[in-house]
Amino acid sequence: MSYGITHIVVVGGGTAGWMAASALARVLGRQVTVRLVESDEIGIVGVGEATVPHIKLFNNLLGLNEAEFVARTQGTFKLGIQFRDWGRLGSAYIHGFGVMGHDVGLTPFHQYWIKGRLAGHAADLLDYSVNTVAATRGKFMPAPTDVPTNSPLGGIGYAYHFDAALYARFLRAYGEARGVHRTEGKVRHVELHPESGHVAAVVLADGERVEGDLFIDCTGFRGLLIEDALKTGYEEWGHWLPCDRALAVPCERVDTPTPYTRSTARESGWQWRIPLQHRTGNGYVYSSSHIDDDEATAKLLANLDGRALADPRPLRFVTGIRKKAWNRNVVSLGLASGFMEPLESTSIHMIQMGISRLLQLFPANGQMDPVLVDRYNAQTRFEAERIRDFLVLHYKATARDDSPFWNDCRTMSIPDSLQRYIDLFRHSGRFFRDADEMFGVVSWVQVMIGQGIMPSGYDPLVDQMPEEDLPRFLASVRDIVSKNVDLMPTHQQFIDRECRAP
Ligand code: FAD
Repeated sequence: MSYGITHIVVVGGGTAGWMAASALARVLGRQVTVRLVESDEIGIVGVGEATVPHIKLFNNLLGLNEAEFVARTQGTFKLGIQFRDWGRLGSAYIHGFGVMGHDVGLTPFHQYWIKGRLAGHAADLLDYSVNTVAATRGKFMPAPTDVPTNSPLGGIGYAYHFDAALYARFLRAYGEARGVHRTEGKVRHVELHPESGHVAAVVLADGERVEGDLFIDCTGFRGLLIEDALKTGYEEWGHWLPCDRALAVPCERVDTPTPYTRSTARESGWQWRIPLQHRTGNGYVYSSSHIDDDEATAKLLANLDGRALADPRPLRFVTGIRKKAWNRNVVSLGLASGFMEPLESTSIHMIQMGISRLLQLFPANGQMDPVLVDRYNAQTRFEAERIRDFLVLHYKATARDDSPFWNDCRTMSIPDSLQRYIDLFRHSGRFFRDADEMFGVVSWVQVMIGQGIMPSGYDPLVDQMPEEDLPRFLASVRDIVSKNVDLMPTHQQFIDRECRAP
C-alpha cells in the first residue's frame, strides 16, 4: 500500500518545525520528500528550554547520541521541578520524575506513606524517592543498565534542559543531513483548492509556489495555515489558567547547575529558572489582569541569580487549543496548535506526541480519511485536557491568600474532571490515571501532596502489613534511597565526565 502522499511541506522552522521535519525525514524519508519553509526575518520564539523524560524516546527515534546532544545544546539534566511558595508562602516540594518509594504488590508506596504520615512517623514525601533526594543534593546519573528497574537507582527518571536556539540549530543540521530541503522565505499567501478547500500551496514573498500533499503548520502562535487560511477556531482556557504573558531573560550562571527546574510562585504568577551549562534561563509568567508589564519586569530582574545577559523579552499568549489540530490536509504542531504555560514543561512533549500520532495515523492513498483525522483530533484534545487539569491543580490547590491573583486562583471553579481526581485523592489517597494520559500516578500524587492536599484516609489494603512493621518499612526505604544517592556523582561531575559543551 502506498501513502499516496509524496510531498510534505513543513511551514515554520522553530522547535516544532525542525522536530517534525527531522522525524518525518527519518521515518518516511524513502517514500516522501520533506520541505521546510522558514523566515529568518520573523525568527523563532526561542524559549522552551525544559523538557520531560519522554523526550528521550524522541531522541531514540532520531538515533541521537545523548552526550553529543547535551554537549551541543549546552544542556543539563533534569530530575524534576522544584515548586517554591506554591502551596503556601515558604513551602517547597519537588515533582520528581522516576519511581517513588517501593510499591508493595498492587498497593502504591504513597499509600503506606499516607498511613505513616497520619500516624506521625513518616518524613517528608521527597525523602523516599531517589529523584527528589538526588535533586536536593545536586547529584545526577542515569539509571545503570545492570540494576533492576524496581531498585532505587533503577527507577531514576530524567529529562534535559537545553538552549532553545542551539536545539533548533542541532535539529536543522540533523534534518538537512537526512534530506530535508530548507527554503528561506516569508509565506505571503496560502492557496486553497477551489473545490476541496485543502491547502494547495504556500506562496512566498518572492512569488515562489511551494506545493504539497500534506502541510504541517508550525508557524507559531499565528497559525498561518490552520487559522488564517482554514479558520479552524480556538478554544480558550484562560478562565482556568489566568496567566497570559511572559518575560524571558537569560542571566549569568553563578553556581553549578541544579539538576532540576525551579518554579517560584510570585504575587501574580510564577518565575522559572532553568540551569544550562553556559547560562541560566529565567522568565516570569504572569496575569496581565493582576500586574502590569513594568512591575513584572522589575520583579523578574530583582530575582535573578546573576547579571542579566539581555533585556527581558515580552511574550503574549492565549491559553487553549485549536479546535481541530488536524484540519483538511493541515496538521498543526507546536504553538500553532495551542499553548499552555510552561509550568510542567509540556509543550515540546506535545509536539513530540503530535508527530508520533501523525506517524501512527498517517493517511494511505493520499486520502485525509475522517476516521484518521477524527482519531488524531480526539486524542490530541484528550491529552491537552489532562495536561490542562494537571496545571490547574497547581493554582487551585493553594492556601495562599496574600494577593488578588492567588485569591482568584484559590476560589475559581475548576473542570469537573479535575474535581473528581481531587475528591478521590482527598478521600483515601487513591488515584487512577486515565489511560494514555501524560502524567502518571507518582506525578499527580507528588503535586497533590506538595500543594497541601492531604488525604483523610488511606487504602485499607495497607493494613495487610502488620502495624509494627510500617515504621520499619518506611525507615528502610528512606535509608536505602539515601545510601543510593550517596553513590551518585554530582550533576557537575557527571556533565564534566560525559557531556561537557565544547
Ligand atoms: P516558533 O518558534 O514561533 O516558530 C515559528 C516558525 O514559523 C519560525 O521559524 C518562523 O520563522 C516561521 N514563520 C512564521 N510565520 C511565517 C511566515 N509568514 N513565513 C515563513 N515562516 C514563518 N516548551 C517546553 O516544552 N518547555 C519549556 O520550558 C517552555 N517554555 C516556554 C516559555 C514561554 C514563555 C513560551 C511562550 C513557550 C515555552 N515553551 C516551552 C513552548 C515552546 O517554546 C514551543 O512549544 C516551541 O518553541 C515551539 O515553538 P514553535 O516552533 O511552534 O514556534
